Amino acid sequence: MVARTDQTTDPVLLEGLLQARRGTAFFARKLNELSDADLDGPSLLPGWTRRHVTAHIGYNARALARLIEWAATGIETPMYASPEARNQEIAFGATLSPIALRNLFDHSAVHLNVEWRDLPADAWHHKVKTAQGRIVPAEETVWMRTREVWIHAVDLDNGATFADIPVPVLTRLLKDITGAWATRGTDTGLLIKVTGTDTDLTFGDTSATDQTVITGPLAAVVEWAAGRGSTGVTASGPGTTEGTPAAPAWI
Ligand code: ZN
Repeated sequence: MVARTDQTTDPVLLEGLLQARRGTAFFARKLNELSDADLDGPSLLPGWTRRHVTAHIGYNARALARLIEWAATGIETPMYASPEARNQEIAFGATLSPIALRNLFDHSAVHLNVEWRDLPADAWHHKVKTAQGRIVPAEETVWMRTREVWIHAVDLDNGATFADIPVPVLTRLLKDITGAWATRGTDTGLLIKVTGTDTDLTFGDTSATDQTVITGPLAAVVEWAAGRGSTGVTASGPGTTEGTPAAPAWI
């Protein structure tokens, strides 16, 4: 008997699943608004058409479904055979007919959702490995999917902006990105200030004395931090005479 509701009762996980499902629906809407001919057009990602973005999102769902199968069965099934295999798969997917490309997105999203829904509550804690080699509990796949569908919906360049992304998702994205910088030590002298919230949020290198300060509303700051341009942020301090510096690499 296949369950029709989530097996987990963890409220935090259920809230996360909601954001992932909302993001998937949002991506679907932005994709469905595009004509077949529009799919050939450029995305916001250098070298990628909208076809590449759509193929990537489809194969990402399949890869995450493999991690959930791993968590459910204990049989190791990696996201991708190799980074090269991942890239080849996207290049191939981008050549599919429009109907096949749309089916890839739809079917893979449904498949992942069924895998999530049917995963027994305790199996969400089982450890799996990401494409970057991080060992994480299966519940991390929910966040991994959430950030992909929301950001790449913007990358489709069909009118979606970072302001469409829910605040909890934006906040976690900024923590993720600045956390990755701190781990790598690439945020030296860089301070991020988010304005327009009840309590001012500060990220980055808070200990430096002569800081490069990036300031702006949450959506604009996250857009900049994710490497998607500097619209809506202001920069001051060292290294800003030529304008807003590019954010350190994230992924
Ligand atoms: Zn991606």
